[in-house]
Amino acid sequence: MHNVIIIGSGCAGNTAAIYTARASLKPLVLIGHEPGGQLSLTSVVENFPGFPKGVDGPELVENMKLQAEAFGAEYVYGTVDEADLSSRPFKINVEGEWHETRTLIIASGASARWLGLPNEQKLIGHGVSSCATCDGAFYRDRKVIVIGGGDSAMEEANFLTRFASEVTLIHRRPQFRASKIMLERARSNPKVKFLGSTVVDDIYDVEQNSVTGVKLRNLDDERVWDQPVDGFFLAIGHVPNTKAFRGQIDLDPEGYIISHGGARTNIKGVFHAGDVQDRTYRQAVTAAGMGCMAAIEAERFLEAEGH
Ligand code: NAP
Repeated sequence: MHNVIIIGSGCAGNTAAIYTARASLKPLVLIGHEPGGQLSLTSVVENFPGFPKGVDGPELVENMKLQAEAFGAEYVYGTVDEADLSSRPFKINVEGEWHETRTLIIASGASARWLGLPNEQKLIGHGVSSCATCDGAFYRDRKVIVIGGGDSAMEEANFLTRFASEVTLIHRRPQFRASKIMLERARSNPKVKFLGSTVVDDIYDVEQNSVTGVKLRNLDDERVWDQPVDGFFLAIGHVPNTKAFRGQIDLDPEGYIISHGGARTNIKGVFHAGDVQDRTYRQAVTAAGMGCMAAIEAERFLEAEGH
């Protein structure tokens, strides 16, 4: 029987692990299919407080894990197939093995949606990014493209004009899902060019281990052409990792956990932290903050029950 199981080993999960381990609760942390979460997909992080020269994303998250382990947190690989939260102790099925726990912290994150092109995954961190806030500053005076037609795409395109010499926004339809105000803002930015009804068929160049261009296709006339670019930013949405909790935890229509105040879910003893609930800020530091909140809530919950 565990005091705390933490699902997820990103910034939120690791911070919850540091706090609960330091409170002698011996948390079990489940490392899912994206060890280290979104931070492990980025290069240098320049906006995490305390690092005036920036810090390598994977190194930052690995250090958090080491810090939690130093206080007694246990990490195991495995994704949650099923959960039974109908009664306590909660039961979590990790790849066929059931674990019981008095409290649960869900920090399973939201995974960026990718296009699924073969070269896309190979060039992540080498010109392909799903986070303009994280990686935009590396593209000073460069040409970049942003894929998507929602608010995130507009926001990222505008943000990238701070650095890039030219931003081309590529969207698969002629109409945009983005709100009027966000669309107008991007449209009125002289550095943003719009390419509607266009899809990406390929990304170059894996051999050079760096993005050098894309193959584009216009869906109206099937015209295909190559466009040189230095950066490839995806803004086609995120998918929260909450499948195992459907029907038990209150989720919004897109699957994000609905907070019941602080780090609380609708089930007493089950807490949330990070991008699995936060669709607004999605920053390493906010995820870490929520991890801390979830840990303190779990600790107080256990204390109130005499554990
Ligand atoms: P979103 O609104 O779901 O938009 C995703 C966009 O990506 C859509 O335009 C969609 O195209 C496109 N897309 C999805 N899959 C694709 C694929 N396989 N290939 C090509 N294009 C694809 O996601 P979001 O922009 O991340 O926004 C999520 C939520 O956060 C929204 O509620 C949004 O309003 C909010 N948000 C708000 C702000 C703000 O107000 N400051 C900023 C960011 C996000 P289709 O349109 O053709 O489906």
